[in-house]
Amino acid sequence: METDPKRCSILIREEAFRLGFDDCGISAAGKLDKEKAFLDRWLKEGRHAEMSYMERNRDKRTDPQKLVPGARSVISVLVNYYPSRFQEDPSAPVISKYAYYPDYHRIIKNRLHLLLDYIEQHMGRVKSRIFVDSAPVLERAWAARSGLGWIGKNTMLISRKTGSFVFLGEIICDLELAPGKEMPDYCGECTRCLDACPTGALLAPRVLDAGRCISYHTIENPGEIPESMRGKMQNRIFGCDICQDVCPWNRKVRPTSFPGLEPVPGLLEMTTDEWKALDETTYRSTFSGTSLERTGYRGIIRNLKYRK
Ligand code: SF4
Ligand code: SF4
Repeated sequence: METDPKRCSILIREEAFRLGFDDCGISAAGKLDKEKAFLDRWLKEGRHAEMSYMERNRDKRTDPQKLVPGARSVISVLVNYYPSRFQEDPSAPVISKYAYYPDYHRIIKNRLHLLLDYIEQHMGRVKSRIFVDSAPVLERAWAARSGLGWIGKNTMLISRKTGSFVFLGEIICDLELAPGKEMPDYCGECTRCLDACPTGALLAPRVLDAGRCISYHTIENPGEIPESMRGKMQNRIFGCDICQDVCPWNRKVRPTSFPGLEPVPGLLEMTTDEWKALDETTYRSTFSGTSLERTGYRGIIRNLKYRK
């Protein structure tokens, strides 16, 4: 059994690459104090709109001990999901690129279980939990701590290797490992994302007002699209990639090669007319098990109504 923290970290990273992850980084499982202060202020200012779940479990979000008692390390993995093809009809209602795929949580979790199996075979049994896009984990903060990238002014984790169209996942465990180093901020003087946001939702670098964000309104907002957003939706019906599309770090991204990440059959081929005629039966048969289920059929119909 390998016990040296540095050697274990090297082996885990090597195995992560072998499993198809685009990057893997390690952080010591301390408290996220700086991030907690930012989160508290952001919530106090009401920047989370109707996402009341963000107010809950604040301690869990910023203290890994609350998720895995005795936790010593957070292993973050990164998966580039930049697609090799896009929606074919240029005037079709636009969906975010991450929603092209079937349930990526399951796909990434399965791979993380293989990584955990490897750890337990070579380093002994560990107390651990696996997370993919789970509310109680500040995934971007952990990824940034581990050196996988930095938090850009558009609030996304940006990797120098693969840009910001990335899924993140974590294993929080009680194994002692050698943490990576935080990366400097490579946004520099650039403000493209702030300038390009059509609704002014990026109030300042790294400060998002969800109540003004197209992504929030098309996915998370359970009610009506407010008057203030109407006419500003940029033909988006599920998410919004504008502040990522303009980022220079996404200019030369290669398409994903992660095993199992294939677009949902038929989704990218849907024409404007097919979207307009979408009925509940077609919605269920095409989008079952995908991210687009999150809004429900009614949500998609609402978004289609206000997309212009
Ligand atoms: S997702 Fe769209 S609306 Fe939201 S901040 Fe980015 S560009 Fe603005
Ligand atoms: S567009 Fe520019 S400022 Fe915004 S995240 Fe990318 S590099 Fe940073």
